Amino acid sequence: MSKKERKPGKRRARAQAAPTSAHMDCRELFALLSQYLDAELKPEACSEIERHLKDCAPCVAFLNTLRKTAELCRQYRPAEAPRPLRQEAREQLRAAYQAACLSRKSKVQGSKSKV
Ligand SMILES: [Zn+2]
Repeated sequence: MSKKERKPGKRRARAQAAPTSAHMDCRELFALLSQYLDAELKPEACSEIERHLKDCAPCVAFLNTLRKTAELCRQYRPAEAPRPLRQEAREQLRAAYQAACLSRKSKVQGSKSKV
């Protein structure tokens, strides 16, 4: 009888797959912000965003930009059906967001003096 018992095989380190990050990433926030402005988010998500905004000044600035842009978009196209941000506006916001994140990164962890 050479029936081997089930070997566990490779050890699975099941820690790295799903990091339950208590803190929302800037990118996640960015993805949620437009919905946030449209009030499509669940209350839990909103509080997540607000928690992140407390600690992340660049995202606050970004949110302000997003708000302004969204308002402008609505003012510019009052007759059109209510839509999320237009592509142009999205690109502008993305640029503003990336600039914000870059400035934050360079402050927090950018020890390289790159010009
Ligand atoms: Zn942030």
